[in-house]
Amino acid sequence: MIKINENFLKLQAGYLFPEIGRRVRAFKAENPKADVISMGIGDVTQPLAAAVVEAMKKAVDEMGKKETFRGYDDGGVGYEFLRQAIKENDFAVRGADIGIDEIFVSDGAKCDTGNIQEIFGLNNIIAVADPVYPVYVDTNVMAGRTGRAKKNGQYGKIVYMPCEAENNFIPDLPDRAVDIIYLCFPNNPTGAVATKEVLKKWVDFARANKAIIFFDAAYEAFICDPAIPHSIYEIDGAKDVAIEFRSFSKTAGFTGVRCAFTIIPKQLKAYTKDGKAVEVAPVWRRRHCTKFNGVSYVSQAGAAAVYSPQGKKQCRQIIDIYMANAKLILESLSRLGYKVYGGINAPYIWLKTPGRLKSWEFFDLLLTKANVVGTPGAGFGPAGEGYLRLTAFAKPENVKEAMERLAKL
Ligand SMILES: *Cc1c(COP(=O)(O)O)cnc(C)c1O
Repeated sequence: MIKINENFLKLQAGYLFPEIGRRVRAFKAENPKADVISMGIGDVTQPLAAAVVEAMKKAVDEMGKKETFRGYDDGGVGYEFLRQAIKENDFAVRGADIGIDEIFVSDGAKCDTGNIQEIFGLNNIIAVADPVYPVYVDTNVMAGRTGRAKKNGQYGKIVYMPCEAENNFIPDLPDRAVDIIYLCFPNNPTGAVATKEVLKKWVDFARANKAIIFFDAAYEAFICDPAIPHSIYEIDGAKDVAIEFRSFSKTAGFTGVRCAFTIIPKQLKAYTKDGKAVEVAPVWRRRHCTKFNGVSYVSQAGAAAVYSPQGKKQCRQIIDIYMANAKLILESLSRLGYKVYGGINAPYIWLKTPGRLKSWEFFDLLLTKANVVGTPGAGFGPAGEGYLRLTAFAKPENVKEAMERLAKL
């Protein structure tokens, strides 16, 4: 008799986005003339940069000629031309010495942040922020690293670190030893960023506990403040204790193209039961090359073009459009008396609901009275109750219209 993996049955139903979809569809069915503006789902809306499109077209042409055709990317860890561009433009310029053999190219930071836990023991204790990007938690549930879900939606054995206005949405160090710490800065959903001092505290904590930090930097390109670090490797000692995840999805509009990468420093170690240190990078390389055969040449050629002078300029212009949206949202909502967070170094605005409304109550109010869709903060964890996330990824004219409607509420 075939048995199901019961860890998967512990998962809470994928509740958040299906429920948003259900409520929006029901509203539209009753109000077919309503022009609903979505500021809910975190997907980009601007087209690819011209330099990226050009590079991808050229790559397609190469694939169509005998002389320049390419099959499998050797080893599946990414072409050297791309890893070299990453090394120089994302790390060397920030004083972080990352070798091209420490870079693993993949088709997404979602898969990488989800898969990375596989190479670590099931008895590790994980710590996550609350609210949190659900991928970190759900993949540990699937792996069997957690207990059952409790009434508030949190799982046994996970250490949750509440992020609230009182701690500026920066998690406090856990009051107990943990083995794996998930950090995401700039943060989805709160839009919070971490200073060098904050990251140093976490690096020191990880070093003291022989723990590893999984650092999700998918939104680093949205940092405007020059004092905020883009990479955890800008912090002394981080290469001993941190894995970093990056993606072209939000940086360069690659959500539909697919290209990302993970950094595993050579010196990063984990331990056997008897305390013997083992290098992590070769284990990940083994896992990566066993289960994955590389990102398409066309996508990698497009990703490399993000680092060309034209590509950099064009991607910056696209990010500036989103950050102008964020500024408009922040200013409009502040003027209307809302308490708003994030939105300065991140494309997310984390909005305190007025009058102590619950997240879903405020969601319904915005949908029915202003025809604007946000994401209820409670969907990211209990500490998100009483908040709503708005994204700056909508089209500028829609953001403007949405803010005008909110002013009339
Ligand atoms: C969008 C996002 C990613 C990127 O995922 P891809 O699979 O690369 O598209 C990673 N982490 C967070 C927190 C995100 O919001």
